[in-house]
Amino acid sequence: MRKLVAGNWKMHGLAADLDEVRAIAAGAQRFPSVEVALCVPATLIERAARAVPGFAIGAQDVHFADRGAHTGCVCTAMLTDAGASLAIVGHSERREAQRESDAEVKAKAEAALAAGLGVILCVGESPEVREAGDAVAAVSAQLDASLPRCAIDGLAVAYEPIWAIGTGKVASCEDIAEMHRAIRGRLLAAYGDAGGQVRILYGGSVKASNAPEIFEVADVDGALVGGASLRAEDFLPIVEAAARP
Ligand code: PEP
Repeated sequence: MRKLVAGNWKMHGLAADLDEVRAIAAGAQRFPSVEVALCVPATLIERAARAVPGFAIGAQDVHFADRGAHTGCVCTAMLTDAGASLAIVGHSERREAQRESDAEVKAKAEAALAAGLGVILCVGESPEVREAGDAVAAVSAQLDASLPRCAIDGLAVAYEPIWAIGTGKVASCEDIAEMHRAIRGRLLAAYGDAGGQVRILYGGSVKASNAPEIFEVADVDGALVGGASLRAEDFLPIVEAAARP
């Protein structure tokens, strides 16, 4: 399966950072076996998409409604109009701070896929759940309730243990393998054979030094990268690692 390495710039990125977008897009061309994308703040999508035609620029969230009285929100048509080709949904930072429910995440994924956007649907457990030994059960339940029930072309799932995001802590390869195997099982149960084609990304403090071993884990089909995606010099070595056979 072609690996997907997507950057999540979170609330970082001004006009001055478009040169970094250009550097990442130019560098990614050296690794055609890897699909590379950058999910930038909504304010930067259109300028980023114009700066790097043909390179995948994504959003970090999308509303499930197609229009209406939703102050501050952005719908799928606005994203495609701005030049986005994918969207992250259900990032744990939004599930927590914006109290997004599984049902809302599912609705967002369905709206985005219906609009032709690729979707990176995030799931992951808290440190307490991991310590209690309930991580696989909790993430499986979260996934079952968040998965879109529609045509799933363009769907990817990102497993992001909350305790590993932005902390420098990375899940062990054994834990990643166990969780990705469980996620693959849920995808096959939900979609039949098509579930075997959904990419499962790992996210949580991925950087150049740990990417090679993470990409060797079974059922790791790419990565969602936060901090290390902000600069081409940090991000491109991760893409390079994904390109290794
Ligand atoms: C993320 O925000 O999705 C993420 C994985 O962040 P980081 O790589 O910084 O841990």
